[in-house]
Amino acid sequence: MASKSLYDFTVNDVAGLFLDTADAIVVVDPAIDAYKSIIRRGMFETFLKESGIYHDLILDLWFHFNDSNEKVAGDYQIFADSTGVFKTKYSRRLRLVLEDEKVSHLVQLTVYPFDNASKYIFVMDEFDDNESLQESLTTKKINTIQNTYLFSMYIDLVADTTSSINVTEISDDVVNYNLKYSDWRMMIVNMIWPEDQEQFLRRTDPEYLKKNFTPGRTSSYDCMMRNLEGNFIWVKLIFSRAQTYNDDDYRFVFMVQDINDKSMELMSTLQKYEEKAIKDPLTGVLNHGEIETQLNNAITRRQSSDDPVSVMMLDLDHFKQVNDNYGHAVGDVTLKHFAKLLMDASVEEKALVGRWGGEEFVIVCREKNAEEASAMAENLRQKVEAYQFPDIYHITCSIGVTELKADDEFKEAFNRLDKAMYASKHNGRNKVTLL
Ligand code: GH3
Ligand code: MG
Ligand code: MG
Repeated sequence: MASKSLYDFTVNDVAGLFLDTADAIVVVDPAIDAYKSIIRRGMFETFLKESGIYHDLILDLWFHFNDSNEKVAGDYQIFADSTGVFKTKYSRRLRLVLEDEKVSHLVQLTVYPFDNASKYIFVMDEFDDNESLQESLTTKKINTIQNTYLFSMYIDLVADTTSSINVTEISDDVVNYNLKYSDWRMMIVNMIWPEDQEQFLRRTDPEYLKKNFTPGRTSSYDCMMRNLEGNFIWVKLIFSRAQTYNDDDYRFVFMVQDINDKSMELMSTLQKYEEKAIKDPLTGVLNHGEIETQLNNAITRRQSSDDPVSVMMLDLDHFKQVNDNYGHAVGDVTLKHFAKLLMDASVEEKALVGRWGGEEFVIVCREKNAEEASAMAENLRQKVEAYQFPDIYHITCSIGVTELKADDEFKEAFNRLDKAMYASKHNGRNKVTLL
């Protein structure tokens, strides 16, 4: 059959199509507490009777709607009450469970008042599995919005008023606070994280909003805000100016979105990347780039401060033999244990440990003069000497120490350090040399 041209469609075609596709159509008369099924298809062959008691139908629908027959939704009360008059079209989604089945059916119910609202037509359509899935996704989305939008309100800058929007219901209910926008701002600022307060005041300033928001523009920024339990959480503050053609109309929607979980996740990811960027993957101490930066920082700081700072370089003795005799894997384990010894000894010493390369390590010893750094180095040398390494049992290290001078440049300081370490090697290894 050739399909019909758009312009040939009639009311009857549409009505016919409607009658062919609707799963259930029921006419109800609350005055005599009865309903009559006009169409019953699919699940509704079981759910509906040919004709029945209107109250029972409502109880069935309403029971499933709430999953409990104790709490009665206001919307339903009006149908249940035979004296109630419902003059407008009404539509909602329900989950219905047939008596012998476990799975629920997702149903769209639309109620049309007619005959001067003395009777109603109930049209019910079951969603197929796919639609049902989409619906549950949508419900999830709405739940997410309910959970994430903590708070929202309308702002009229000209009238200097605020009024709340009930977002949790996804409705347009507006409650007037009788709170001036200017007062509201000064109240809310106390809930903002102290360091973010200045920014909050700047960005909520009426003149700022007027200047920076063209009609329809939305802009947001993140900050920390105290929640109802008194804890600071990450939120997104969103301002959106109403789409308007009147230049003097400055109405805004303001929303606070809870982004704490996501922000925390982001922070920890950033922290992980940051750590990766500065740490040596094998030993977990600072990598070459980072310890070089720290050494440079120490040199720069020393140029303008009298606080002493020293550096040491440590190199394992005859380490090549470990690889040759036990294999590279044992060599790696030895490096890890060596690095751990250095780390443990440096934590309480305010010292920074880094791997310069291979089996060479550098330690920046803050607030330590030559004497103190030498003592620390000697202590380390003995610890390494006494330590039982896996497989190889014993290995020693040679250490060079130098205190930074106020006029040191990187090259001079590093040469002195290198020389000190090699002096320890030349003098028989397992030594500390101060230069
Ligand atoms: P010295 O006492 O003069 O320092 O002798 P040495 O054998 O320790 O010095 P040398 O510089 O000749 O050899 C260092 C060795 O360190 C060479 C290299 O195979 C080894 N090495 C460097 N990086 C690594 C690593 O990441 N893992 C392992 N297992 N070995 C490494
Ligand atoms: Mg070595
Ligand atoms: Mg070496």
